[in-house]
Amino acid sequence: MKPEVMIDIETLGLPENLPGNAVIAVVEIAAIKFDGNGILDQLHMFPSEGNGSIDENTVAWWIKQCRIPAWVDARDRGLDKPIVDCLSSLSEFCQGAESIWTRKPFDLDVLKNQYLIRQMYQPWSHKTRRDLYTLAEEVGAPKLHNENPHDAMPDCAVQVNQLIECRKILRGAA
Ligand SMILES: [Mg+2]
Repeated sequence: MKPEVMIDIETLGLPENLPGNAVIAVVEIAAIKFDGNGILDQLHMFPSEGNGSIDENTVAWWIKQCRIPAWVDARDRGLDKPIVDCLSSLSEFCQGAESIWTRKPFDLDVLKNQYLIRQMYQPWSHKTRRDLYTLAEEVGAPKLHNENPHDAMPDCAVQVNQLIECRKILRGAA
């Protein structure tokens, strides 16, 4: 069985607050490669500032969070890198994956615009993209606890676990 990839990103904007074709600023990208036996590999990146549009509502939302976001800490420690490097690494990481998952379509929509504006290869197609939110709602999967929400790597790990739960429910119902 081919591996699958789960992606989660954090941004400084939401599509509903910006023009439809906006390239939204991405501050954190996490990806986990997995198969039926568990996690195979992971990728965690912090794109440098200035890679897209930001909106005031989203910035205000980050300010109201009661801890320093992982991406702010990473930038303070110089762990960020150019968005083109992050997008290339993500493309490479996704090579050979059977399906590319996110919690909601939003994440891949944002990344798609980032790839498009830079004329870079986007590592999924309309046939390989999947969204967990719809599946979890449909099968009635329990919400899983996340100690560090809005930090992309813990979010991504919880999403992989929730997908596994969804599949268990589906197998049980079959
Ligand atoms: Mg997240």
